[in-house]
Amino acid sequence: MNDHIEAAVVRQHARGQWFGILGRLAPSLEPALVRPGRHVPCPVHGGQDGFRVFNDANEGGGGICNTCGPRRDGFALLMWANDWGFRVALEAVAQDLRLDGGGFWSAAKSTPRRAPVSAQHRDHAGAESALRRIWSETLDPYGREALPLRRYLLRRGIDAMPDPAVVRFHPALGYYEERVRVGTYPAIISRVTDAAGQPVTLHRTYLTTDGAKAPVTSPKKLMPEMGTLSGGAIRLFPAGAELGVTEGIETALAVRQRTNMPVWAGVSAALVEAFEPPPGVTLVVIWADLDRSGRGAFAANKLRARLLTMGIQVAVHLPPGPIPGGAKGLDWADVWSLKIRAAA
Ligand SMILES: [Zn+2]
Repeated sequence: MNDHIEAAVVRQHARGQWFGILGRLAPSLEPALVRPGRHVPCPVHGGQDGFRVFNDANEGGGGICNTCGPRRDGFALLMWANDWGFRVALEAVAQDLRLDGGGFWSAAKSTPRRAPVSAQHRDHAGAESALRRIWSETLDPYGREALPLRRYLLRRGIDAMPDPAVVRFHPALGYYEERVRVGTYPAIISRVTDAAGQPVTLHRTYLTTDGAKAPVTSPKKLMPEMGTLSGGAIRLFPAGAELGVTEGIETALAVRQRTNMPVWAGVSAALVEAFEPPPGVTLVVIWADLDRSGRGAFAANKLRARLLTMGIQVAVHLPPGPIPGGAKGLDWADVWSLKIRAAA
């Protein structure tokens, strides 16, 4: 296949659609995407306000961090934010734009040309084997070694425990920045499944041994996915006719503790927005995040509108404000743990 021409075709289709593409494929870019041109914390190195996407990022997809440097287009931005190779980024964008369902993409794939195909397979095989390896290294969250996980939840006033086949504990997981291992931490590893319930990737929350978030720039990270993430969630409890949906795992567990309803974590606002409930669900309760950007409420309302057209009943619960000074937002786990602290 001719890489050069193919990339040019995908690039041409992506022009004018990068906000949507980047939001779906790189949830860490969301804060920047909702305010193009404005500075937000860098999705890779953290900090206060070093990163922005360009004003015209919907056209070209580029952005710049004052510390990490410029990423001139959407492919470069995806590779950087998700730690992807070019082939993986190109294929993800093509899939997102549904350019892979026929036409040039499948035609290109069926044309055997050794080098690019093997590069693509290498990236995918590497990502898949990393997922398998990390999952195989995890331990039971109820076990003695998993104390950091339980301390982390208890610090938030949470004692509801999810399905131990879905949320597990890793005793010493490497933490990487720009493909360089900068530390090893205990971690919560959660299995993210697609809309049909098939595992597609893993979500990581890096911890300290005493149950705080690890002192790294991005303590929560998704691994590259093998399949379609859109529509999926972390299925923390078996669904009933009623199903709660949150962004965060902690929020889901806090809701579970107070309502006893089955709750799934959508991981990000973009994924909550795209969430597809399984067959048999007749009521979805969205426990939305209250963000300064308004992103959480926007996602909840989009999901609500779509589910209503499917004949599913929907309730949206937004945390009562105000958002504490210095915080980016407020979720239900925050609301309840603030109440606990105030009462103590
Ligand atoms: Zn940066």
